[in-house]
Amino acid sequence: MSEQNVSPTADDLSVPSHMRAWILKGADEIEMVEKPVPQPDKSEVLVRIDAIAVCGTDLEIIRSGLPAMVEGEIAFNKDFTFGHEYMGTVVGLGPDVDEYKIGQRITVEVHAGCGRCKRCRMGMYTSCHNYSYRSKGHRANGMTTDGGFAEYAVNHINTLVPVPDDMSDEEAALVVTAGTSMYGLTELGGLVAGESVVVSGPGPIGLIAVAVARSLGADPVILTGTRENRLEMGRKLGATHTINVREVEDSVEAVKEIVGKPGADYVIECAGTEGSLNDSIHMTNRGGKICLAAFPHEPCKVDLPYAVMNNIYMYGIRGEGKSGTYRAMSFMKDKRFDATAIHTHTFALDDLPEALRYARERVDGAIKVIVKARGVDPIKA
Ligand SMILES: [Zn+2]
Ligand SMILES: [Zn+2]
Repeated sequence: MSEQNVSPTADDLSVPSHMRAWILKGADEIEMVEKPVPQPDKSEVLVRIDAIAVCGTDLEIIRSGLPAMVEGEIAFNKDFTFGHEYMGTVVGLGPDVDEYKIGQRITVEVHAGCGRCKRCRMGMYTSCHNYSYRSKGHRANGMTTDGGFAEYAVNHINTLVPVPDDMSDEEAALVVTAGTSMYGLTELGGLVAGESVVVSGPGPIGLIAVAVARSLGADPVILTGTRENRLEMGRKLGATHTINVREVEDSVEAVKEIVGKPGADYVIECAGTEGSLNDSIHMTNRGGKICLAAFPHEPCKVDLPYAVMNNIYMYGIRGEGKSGTYRAMSFMKDKRFDATAIHTHTFALDDLPEALRYARERVDGAIKVIVKARGVDPIKA
């Protein structure tokens, strides 16, 4: 790090030459190593990572490598640092950067895209045709380029979102999750005031989708799932109704009892099972819309004839596209919902394996587990 890039007066913002970082070795194998602190180039800043959330996608990357890739190859044994849902403080500026200041708190979205393919030019940078090819300019920190389970990361300025002073590090780290939910609702048409929305699957994205849909004026907002503690959380985040699918005979009928016979206007499918996909199709009204936000692990047999005959639109989404993070931050800044409701546990960077275990096994009801490189109270009360 050259001297002119770092504030000389602020001691806590000084940048060492090396940092601690977790890297992906083989399947289910991670290691803490010492790496040089990366240098910000043009259009980039150096971020000191202050908080990072564990995502289901991180667990998938550690297990199978995908969707992380480096230059078209699986990301095993590539010195690759995973972790994509982070926030921090700007501690270094690339030579041309005047959009951000040293010491400024920011949160990030994952995908920078390549900026040169057809989809990036359309603003659909989470669908970049050059995914994983850094040589073509593509960046997605924690997916294809080094991410946030480290002390520092370099981010393109198009991935930064300023964090207001009164927002905690933990809350700011949840903006990517909220951005993904926001992107889903954007693809469904965005304006859902007075419309009925069903969210199936109370994982982090589903729970925040409830909050975003309610903030956009949807009514009713129905959350379906199997775990009572998560349904309770959904009610706190704005669900007007919850349905425990284990306790009703037919969840499609249970939804229709609330929204009326024709079915729901919008369904956000966050469960990703064949059963939940078919329920989603059958509970959507004619001309209604379904957002496919979950990643099913296998091809699914779904009732497409019903979907076609009923003019049902289906939208697959990937990531936090179309600047969803900016719009999500706008809601969070205004305290329209409290994303921290889904934050259950906090660990230090050294304890990442334990943090991952909590997230994977849902130990102690874990939903969103946050890792902090500095100043950690071990576990949130
Ligand atoms: Zn994620
Ligand atoms: Zn692209």
